[in-house]
Amino acid sequence: MFSSVLIANRGEIALRVARTARRLGMRVIVVHSEADSAAPFVAFADEAYPIGPAPARESYLVAERILDVARRAGAECIHPGYGFLSENAEFAEACAVAGIVFVGPPPSAVRAMGLKDAAKALAEKAGVPVVPGYHGDIQDPAFLREKAYQIGYPVLIKAVAGGGGKGMRRVDKHADFEEALASCQREALNAFSDARVLVEKYITAPRHVEVQVFGDRHGQVLHLFERDCSMQRRHQKVIEEAPAPGMSAETRAAFGRAAVDAARAVGYYGAGTVEFIADGSKGLRPDGFYFMEMNTRLQVEHPVTEMITGLDLVEWQFRVAAGEPLPCRQDQLAIAGHAVEARLYAEEPERGFLPSTGHIHALRLPEGEGIRVDFGVAEGGEVTPYYDPMIAKIIAHGPSRDVALDRLHAALEDTLVAGPKTNLRFLAALIDQPDFRAGRLDTGFIDRNLAALGAEPQPLDPGAVAAGALALLAEEKARLAALAAARSGWAGDPWSAGDGFALAPGRAGALRLAVEGEIVDLATDAAGAAIAAEGLAPERDFTLVTAGDAVHVLDRGRQIRVAVPDPLDVTFEDHGGDAGGIVRAPMHGKLVALFVAEGEPVEKGQRVAIVEAMKMEHPVLAPRAGIVEGIAFAAGAQLGEGARILSIAVAE
Ligand code: ADP
Ligand code: ADP
Ligand code: MG
Repeated sequence: MFSSVLIANRGEIALRVARTARRLGMRVIVVHSEADSAAPFVAFADEAYPIGPAPARESYLVAERILDVARRAGAECIHPGYGFLSENAEFAEACAVAGIVFVGPPPSAVRAMGLKDAAKALAEKAGVPVVPGYHGDIQDPAFLREKAYQIGYPVLIKAVAGGGGKGMRRVDKHADFEEALASCQREALNAFSDARVLVEKYITAPRHVEVQVFGDRHGQVLHLFERDCSMQRRHQKVIEEAPAPGMSAETRAAFGRAAVDAARAVGYYGAGTVEFIADGSKGLRPDGFYFMEMNTRLQVEHPVTEMITGLDLVEWQFRVAAGEPLPCRQDQLAIAGHAVEARLYAEEPERGFLPSTGHIHALRLPEGEGIRVDFGVAEGGEVTPYYDPMIAKIIAHGPSRDVALDRLHAALEDTLVAGPKTNLRFLAALIDQPDFRAGRLDTGFIDRNLAALGAEPQPLDPGAVAAGALALLAEEKARLAALAAARSGWAGDPWSAGDGFALAPGRAGALRLAVEGEIVDLATDAAGAAIAAEGLAPERDFTLVTAGDAVHVLDRGRQIRVAVPDPLDVTFEDHGGDAGGIVRAPMHGKLVALFVAEGEPVEKGQRVAIVEAMKMEHPVLAPRAGIVEGIAFAAGAQLGEGARILSIAVAE
């Protein structure tokens, strides 16, 4: 076994790999960007080396700098985690040249499976069923459109170099093909520097079922059963579980065989995942699934497999990389119970799942029987706009699927995050859906159930606003009382005037607050000392987290921020009570396109700009009809969340 490892990754996966490495007696070496110097994985490591600024392109993706550190620190091997350099064959080769073991598959296998078109061709040759479609070299739009027609709609256009759910467009009608192709190619070029696509049949009632495979350097390849990852949004996994609901032993054997065949076809060793798409309309069947792609690395959702097999897959990765044979044969593996993972994201389901960044003022992670939490940030840390906004993975295991889901539900209720918004309440609602509980799932489930899942704009909860306001007032009173006591003899009406006054009166008889960035005037009584809204804060079970001049009011995973308005903050400019025409950046990102000019009339809902964040394009729509004015940025500008892009004045 190795005596040291350099982990070329960050966040929860860096910490998770570090724990196993430490247990195996290795010296743990990590690299980190400027944004991560206080991250938990850095604190955990034996040695940590800064490798550059926050953007991954300037740090975690700079292979040469990482290899430099590995050489200097004397690392015997490099574990790449997932994402970043994990599926980069040149990096794996460069490790070998430097005499450092790459903990992963052979570079030839990474390369063979790296592009979806070549991977499909390879799988086909190995006798593994693939999704019907065109995955050849011709990229002429008219030709591809003709192919789509032959395949039959709906079709899916996929970037051959794609990953992470990016660069994919479903097309339902022939008339929509060209536009979808152009937009898919643009996203692919931008995210993967490769505009090539393939076109395939869109499988109806699709279920994503993948198989964990493992090979050693002695010719053995086996599988560690399947995971169902059908609970997706925008082709990205939200909930994953093992085993797949409704999987018979016969069908499981067929999936396992196909996965092992695909792995063998590329001389695979190490951990890998073969992803299949199944037509779920008639249940999982031995002849109803197709190869989609192979991920030549550890997968985000590997913990559910670990929980049903009792194995540590990272340990297996290290052992295989060190040349050891796999510790068992296929017939020695068995499934024990059921495991479910939920990805806790800093995002806002109520606002189209926009990523939410910022300081984590409070964080409580769940514990309990059958519960495992893999986390990447800690209280006091930061969710930055530079990386995937995943805060933690919460995994529950139980003797049955129902028990696992009940445990997961309780764990989600026990979790608390103050600061960035999260998908906590959404996750809890999701695993409670009767159809999901009954095992009726497909990749369209979330989109079909957005309203039931609370993933649409919600009105402000007046009780929560009142609770926040009362907490702010209580603090203010305590502060002023202390001030008064310090200046003996000074006593006055705390709401009249005076220095150190933070809570401002609004309109007559109102107290001005900033609730979720919007100005709210709460009615007060004549003396201004009490809030009429007191009656709105009944005995409800809110958790209040105070940070600076704001209170975060948490209610079963939902958060609102009640703050003292900052008179200098341009976000709160007075617009004569009319803030309805301001168009703001929905998130931190880049203004990639601006479709309107000053003085131009727009319709309500018209697309006025595109902001790109996390390599995905987000359209910005006009909140009302009117005339464009006050354009503050040009295309290409970097925008902070909430930055005012332009205004729409009501036409005279
Ligand atoms: P999984 O199937 O394990 O969920 P994904 O394909 O969603 O895998 O990607 C795993 C992780 O790697 C995610 O955090 C994703 O954001 C990241 N990732 C995926 N593709 C890339 C890429 N090309 N470059 C950098 N990171 C990526
Ligand atoms: P990525 O590399 O981004 O993970 P995949 O090829 O694995 O790309 O596809 C991602 C997701 O898109 C799948 O999990 C599935 O939900 C959906 N998908 C992919 N191919 C098809 C298809 N042919 N029909 C229906 N859904 C598909
Ligand atoms: Mg995939």
